[in-house]
Amino acid sequence: MHVNGKVALVTGGAQGIGRAFVQALLGKGAKVALLDRNSEAGQESKAALDEQFEAQRTLFIQCDVTEQEQLKGAFKKVIEHFGRLDIVVNNAGVNNEKDWESTIQINLTSVIRGTYLGLEYMRKGNGGNGGVIINMSSLADKTDSTAKSPCNLAYIIFPANPNLELDSEFLISTGLAANMENYGVRVNTICPGFVNTPILQSIDKEENMGQYYSYKDEIKNMMQFYGVMDPSIIAEGLITIIEDDTLNGEVMKITASQGIHFQQYGQTPFTSSK
Ligand code: NAD
Repeated sequence: MHVNGKVALVTGGAQGIGRAFVQALLGKGAKVALLDRNSEAGQESKAALDEQFEAQRTLFIQCDVTEQEQLKGAFKKVIEHFGRLDIVVNNAGVNNEKDWESTIQINLTSVIRGTYLGLEYMRKGNGGNGGVIINMSSLADKTDSTAKSPCNLAYIIFPANPNLELDSEFLISTGLAANMENYGVRVNTICPGFVNTPILQSIDKEENMGQYYSYKDEIKNMMQFYGVMDPSIIAEGLITIIEDDTLNGEVMKITASQGIHFQQYGQTPFTSSK
């Protein structure tokens, strides 16, 4: 799919990786709605982007992705405002083991909800033109299968975390459903290693890490060992997924050592092996 002229919705778009996604999409000629619960950061981002791109090409919507009605309302607003929707990026995420239930709400439940909303609004046969959904996951706990690395329990329960059966099933079923019913919507996942964004500061905070706080130095050592990437590299991965129409149901891994590559699965019925 060409990005130019398309409309994208990015959750957690106010800072970090989401912000880099918004920047890359605008750079490729898309119109972008950035959704974030942090209104101040969202307004600041929009103002900064307006200096580089035409102001009418971005829309900031304050939205907590865990609030069902807010998220639904934001999807509706994007379509009313821009007249269409082609790309959905479920990127909002946190690292908070102390409030693990809310972490699962944000990192997993809301991603599934965002996927279903994306399918509802973009699928062919339901008023949509088809499109692409990209869900953010993580390489947390799969950096080295031989190392027993400490990893926050709630954080690793991400959609399509390749180490977890539940997640790959979710990915496969949504990719498969979208494919089989001629929705014209592709669903893919990005799993990066460490990326230089404000979320990394949470490792130093007891109020985020809870009982995993004592492992903070080990995690920092891992960051040094594996490297910390610039968010722009993750945005390159996003653009690759959008532009390559053969990618469906794929898990794209991005690491400092190997760059952009794909999780190998056994035979999946709906996509060529990459
Ligand atoms: P970040 O903390 O810099 O940005 C996350 C954004 O999401 C923030 O703007 C925040 O306000 C927003 N957000 C959080 N909860 C929200 C909610 N309930 N509703 C709406 N917005 C909400 O983090 P980041 O590093 O840019 O992370 C982006 C995604 O990438 C997350 O899903 C994260 O888990 C994942 N990820 C990050 C890394 C990394 O090392 N930075 C690695 C792998 C995966």
